[in-house]
Amino acid sequence: MPNLLDNKIEFLKGVGPKRAALLNKEAGIASFGDLLNYFPFRYIDKSHIYKVSEVTNDQTWFQLVGEVSALRVHGSPRATRVTATFSDDSGSIELVWFKGLKWLKEKFLPGQRYVLFGKASAFNNKFNFVHPDVELFDPADQSVGGVLQGVYPTTENMKNMGLGSKQIARLTKTLLQQLEGYIPETLPEYLILEEKLMRRSQACQNIHWPTNNHSLKLATLRLSFEEYFFFQLRLISGKMQRERTSRSFVFQRIGALFNEFYSRYLPFELTEAQKKVIREIRHDLGSGIQMNRLLQGDVGSGKTIVALMAMLIALDNGYQAAFMAPTEILATQHYHSLKKLLGELPVSLALLTGSSKATERKLIDTTLQDGSLHLIVGTHALIEDNVVFSKLGLVIIDEQHRFGVAQRAKLREKNDTPPHMLVMTATPIPRTLAMTQYGDLDVSVIDELPPGRKPIKTIHLYQHQRLRMLSFVRKQLAEGRQVYIVYPLIKESEKLDLINLQEGYESLLRDFPEPQYQICVVHGQMKTEDKDWEMQRFVRGQAHIMVATTVIEVGVDIPNASVMVIEHADRFGLAQLHQLRGRVGRGADQSYCLLMTDFKLTADGKKRMLTMVNSTDGFEIAAVDLELRGPGDTQGTLQSGQLEFKLGNLAKDEKLIRHTRGLAQKLLTADPALMQPQHAVVKTAFMQRYATEIDWGSIG
Ligand code: ADP
Ligand code: MG
Repeated sequence: MPNLLDNKIEFLKGVGPKRAALLNKEAGIASFGDLLNYFPFRYIDKSHIYKVSEVTNDQTWFQLVGEVSALRVHGSPRATRVTATFSDDSGSIELVWFKGLKWLKEKFLPGQRYVLFGKASAFNNKFNFVHPDVELFDPADQSVGGVLQGVYPTTENMKNMGLGSKQIARLTKTLLQQLEGYIPETLPEYLILEEKLMRRSQACQNIHWPTNNHSLKLATLRLSFEEYFFFQLRLISGKMQRERTSRSFVFQRIGALFNEFYSRYLPFELTEAQKKVIREIRHDLGSGIQMNRLLQGDVGSGKTIVALMAMLIALDNGYQAAFMAPTEILATQHYHSLKKLLGELPVSLALLTGSSKATERKLIDTTLQDGSLHLIVGTHALIEDNVVFSKLGLVIIDEQHRFGVAQRAKLREKNDTPPHMLVMTATPIPRTLAMTQYGDLDVSVIDELPPGRKPIKTIHLYQHQRLRMLSFVRKQLAEGRQVYIVYPLIKESEKLDLINLQEGYESLLRDFPEPQYQICVVHGQMKTEDKDWEMQRFVRGQAHIMVATTVIEVGVDIPNASVMVIEHADRFGLAQLHQLRGRVGRGADQSYCLLMTDFKLTADGKKRMLTMVNSTDGFEIAAVDLELRGPGDTQGTLQSGQLEFKLGNLAKDEKLIRHTRGLAQKLLTADPALMQPQHAVVKTAFMQRYATEIDWGSIG
């Protein structure tokens, strides 16, 4: 039976070839099914008509009926603004437009009644409506006085072709009539009953044209349940498949290197959390199934030593290990700290970065291939094709969110047998994301900081309080501490940012004159040697202040640095702020983070500053970050879109995600290949959903 949902959108009554092309281009709607899945992003409650006098807040939506008068154009000849007065028998209120001005003049006729819909804005202690939705009032129009009307996403181009929200609503109405009886169920009957879910056909009807708030809620629940459920099915089935097919080396032995390191070179007692994670890794490495583990641990929680111990297990079993970091500075630091940690152990270690010299490079190439080089630390340089290992058994990727999926995949493909993978991140991933984005990885968490760390004190200061910041810095320097001062770097205007940093640096030179104070500078556009030189001055304590862009964001570890000043802090996202703050607080001294901003902040900016001041818990911060920015942005890992649920909201749906994950797991355990008759509908829907996608199930 041909599937009605596959019909081209062109053939829906009221569309035609031209609008079909536009729908396809602007909204990705090519078929009946696509339109069916094109949901409103909000609903207008038109059940109540308010009075102008009732417009007393800027939070709720108001529907008013009244007359429009006194249309006036303000500003230059090119007209910057149009105002009008909207009145009913209770009073009047101002309407404001900043564009579409020409069209406005023709729109409103005196003596006519209009229906207005919008949110009010507070301005000069009064309320007005900016760009409200105003239309001729037609008492017969059923959307007025009706109940909930969906508002669909549209674009300017679509509106110009008569494809505004209202027109799309009309199309969905036609569509639903045509599809009556043809919207297939996608969930097994028993789940619908057990979970008391609305049936799919009814849910589709109600998501577009809800009969009331309750049915809208049920429809939304049903459809987001379905989204999460299928998403989890895909993740879990991918993981199960990999576990069946993805064999890797068995590292059975805990040998001399591991044991000797543990007994002789371990510089401190491991935290319980570190021990737990090492146990988890040991288990994976001995299982014969390829390890695909994500290690999450807040900045400073001690992931490096865990990585080292995992690598020693690989070495003990006769394999090589690679440790990849996102920046040269970080790779170099890892190299040095691993070298120090390894002490006299017979492990050969090398560093490979973009600036490794040809001779070093050659030596690395030969020793990697003949197996005499055991452990290599490096940057992206490691994934180049000409880097060939003799027996690569374990790959560790630090700060994994800095790498793309493809880059990680390349390391994985260095062998015929895929090496074990451990990816580490200091950006805590909210649980909901961990269950979605990383649902196919095993996750270990270091949820405990090494003992003796004092929580970092965070203070938010405005620019006019600079003197306070400077005198605080002076005091800390007098106590022998070192200080970071970080400037934002925004890609669009790297030049400007540099000026920013340069000016900041020069004014700091005046505030902290040589020779008493030494200031070093590090930014992304410096040559590597210069950068290293400057870094080294700070590491050795020869420089007291480091002025930097975010190149120091990840990993750098200097225990004596106890103050982090972040200039224009509101230009940073929460994850970045948290990362930056994590550069201090690594020693025994009380550390501080000073967030400098202008007095004027966006609501979002305020919330970020407040969150930083109030919390040092990476998970909590990540959750706020997710709420503020949405999943596309929280991590650099995924192209946006991959994680955008149509209805689901990762910041709010933790329970539902967990629940659907459990159900998907149960279903697949009972019926891994979806062969049971009751799961036929699931199988069909699953294939339809994911048939065209690449298999990205194998992150890592
Ligand atoms: P991150 O998880 O941010 O990569 P690091 O591995 O760089 O953290 O560790 C941060 C600092 O804490 C390092 O100086 C490290 O030597 C130290 N450290 C790690 N584990 C412990 C521990 N169990 N006890 C004391 N210090 C530790
Ligand atoms: Mg680290």
